[in-house]
Amino acid sequence: MADEGRHSMSRRQMVGGTATLAAASLTSATAKGRETMAADSMRPEQLVDPTQNYPKPPFDKQSQPWPGLASKMSPRPDHGETTYKGSGRLAGRKALITGGDSGMGRAAAIAYAREGADVAINYYPTEEPDAQEVVALIRAEGRQAVAIPGDLRDERFCQQLVAQALDALGGLDIIVNNAARQQTRQSILDVSSEDFDATMKTNIYAPFWIIKAALPHLKPGSAIIGTSSEQAYDPSPDLYDYAQTKAATMNYVKSLAKQLGPKGIRVNAVAPGPIWTPLQVSGGATMEKLEKFGGQTPLGRPGQPAELGSIYVQLAAADASYANGQVYGSSGGAGQP
Ligand code: NAD
Ligand code: MG
Repeated sequence: MADEGRHSMSRRQMVGGTATLAAASLTSATAKGRETMAADSMRPEQLVDPTQNYPKPPFDKQSQPWPGLASKMSPRPDHGETTYKGSGRLAGRKALITGGDSGMGRAAAIAYAREGADVAINYYPTEEPDAQEVVALIRAEGRQAVAIPGDLRDERFCQQLVAQALDALGGLDIIVNNAARQQTRQSILDVSSEDFDATMKTNIYAPFWIIKAALPHLKPGSAIIGTSSEQAYDPSPDLYDYAQTKAATMNYVKSLAKQLGPKGIRVNAVAPGPIWTPLQVSGGATMEKLEKFGGQTPLGRPGQPAELGSIYVQLAAADASYANGQVYGSSGGAGQP
């Protein structure tokens, strides 16, 4: 590989000069092997310019019926399918992720499986094609994948979801309340009571129902993670109902962190900025906003779900045991407090 060539060159330069090279040739083969192994594990990462590594606006006009499929987006979002590398940070853990079929939920599911966790994902039934891709990715890691489709706006379903995940995985110790409904409406006059209700049910009631159902089964060391948003702090005019649910998410996370901290259960949130996901192309953004999506951030592009996978890992991992009641932003440089 070109990389290895470049690397051995830099090692030679490090030991320096012909005399040193001759002396080095006298070292035993074993020592050389050890050196190579150590050098490989320390191979310098290529520097990645965050303004150049992912697609930028303008984006193609596109629209899908809610809730949309990642597999039909152009360009297809990157959830870390070919890039996320695990290192056993969540070995043996058992996670339930809502909205695990696409977007941030899929990025978390892939990362969790590669870190050694078994993963149950929930999604809306019409998202089966996206969900099956995630199931295959989890199983490719030798981890257990459980697919539980259903509508989170229904309390009884939320209870069944937790029961099924507990049963299939033999327990739960990570709960990621990530699913959400976002529909742009230019005016509050365009927000129907049905709209308002659906947004509240999906974004606020579902986490409430899921946490209540899961809590009796969560042991000390477990983690609950919510997905908030930069909308919690800097709401867009066309996201009246959605934005207030994201502020509420930030708030419930901080409340529960105080309530559950003494029980050894940590509660944190991730607050993304503009991320390229089906949410945005299935009614979440106007076409005008979509074409320029993420262009206003200091990085000049939207984030990709893959860029947030490691944050969901970090908040769940046992070595982050003092992170409780925290909101971890990932917004490309603007929109956070
Ligand atoms: P996404 O469309 O990939 O994920 C949202 C998921 O919510 C869907 O896949 C769907 O499975 C689930 N869902 C919605 N309503 C449901 C229902 N009634 N029943 C069952 N499942 C339902 O989009 P995403 O952007 O990855 O969204 C994930 C989280 O990220 C959401 O909480 C969203 O608010 C948050 N977020 C997104 C952005 C962004 O720009 N994309 C920015 C900030 C926060
Ligand atoms: Mg989806």
